[in-house]
Amino acid sequence: MKNFKLGDKRPIVISGPCSAETREQTLETCVQLAETGVVDMLRAGVWKPRTSPGSFEGIGEAGLEWMAEAKRLTGLPISVEVATAKHVESALKFGVDVVWIGARTTVSPFAVQEIADALKGNDVAVLIKNPVNPDIDLWAGAVKRFAAVGIPIENIGLIHRGFSYFGSSRYRNPPMWPLAFEMRSRFPDMMMICDPSHMAGSTEYLHELSQTAADLRYDGLMIESHICPAQALSDAKQQLVPGDLEKLVRSINWRKEVADDPEFVTALKLYRDQIDQIDAELFSLLSRRMKISEEIGRVKRANNVIILQSSRWGAIKERILAQADKLQLGREFLGDILEAIHLESINRQNSVMNFEE
Ligand code: PEP
Ligand code: MN
Repeated sequence: MKNFKLGDKRPIVISGPCSAETREQTLETCVQLAETGVVDMLRAGVWKPRTSPGSFEGIGEAGLEWMAEAKRLTGLPISVEVATAKHVESALKFGVDVVWIGARTTVSPFAVQEIADALKGNDVAVLIKNPVNPDIDLWAGAVKRFAAVGIPIENIGLIHRGFSYFGSSRYRNPPMWPLAFEMRSRFPDMMMICDPSHMAGSTEYLHELSQTAADLRYDGLMIESHICPAQALSDAKQQLVPGDLEKLVRSINWRKEVADDPEFVTALKLYRDQIDQIDAELFSLLSRRMKISEEIGRVKRANNVIILQSSRWGAIKERILAQADKLQLGREFLGDILEAIHLESINRQNSVMNFEE
């Protein structure tokens, strides 16, 4: 089989079980995935970083044997997660084509450095998942550690799997898309693959997240699949049987990036002009609103009154959220904007009340 090269196929679809559990489950899943014709690379976790000890922590090297067998049977390249130098050594021994760094590992510069040192001089590709916490410098730092030991930049790719978030969200790990855009602007030519499985945490959101990734020009998808998700030893709720994975992948519309049809170009320009105009108005209104907040700060200071008057803020929030339906804006979205505006108003009032001469 010819050596796998990152970037040879875009978009790339990587699929396989969250964990290799038994030989039968691993091979059945991988063979069925290969038969769909929509999968370009197989994946499985053989060492599982689990939040709590005592959960299934992976099958270890036996899983690598099964993956190597899956590679022989299907002709597809294989990928596994590595978290230590020892894992790298085993993965290389079994002919793994791509290793990935898990989200819980990317947060640790010691671990990343150890893996980078172990990979030095090898031509396997490495995919770096975003760290669990929304910290772009940490993600970028991991890329730099691999590049610094001499891994060619074209052998390094990124996997966006969402960020852990303290608050309520319908997703297990909300994507926070702008963070991935920032990463892309730092590494413009690097493959960026979306992992909707770990973002979603549930099969019901896989389609919307995958389509969004396609529309945001991602270079591929990594999606978990299991022959019997209900019995999976890890991530049972988010895995699809191979047949459903095929349907999902076929339903994604990878739209083209540009079109030169003159009617399209004109329509787009008109809409973009409108957006630019609206943005200008929106931000000039925000600027006026902040100046008024400062005036409020001044009168509060003159009367020695505290900044935060929660009943007033509660009333503003309620009044605006009540209009959500009429405005056709989601309550979560409105809530986020209101929070951001409120925070900035408080900061402005604070600087006027405490630091203005
Ligand atoms: C996985 O891919 O199975 C995994 C453990 O993912 P993450 O590191 O994104 O949690
Ligand atoms: Mn998983």
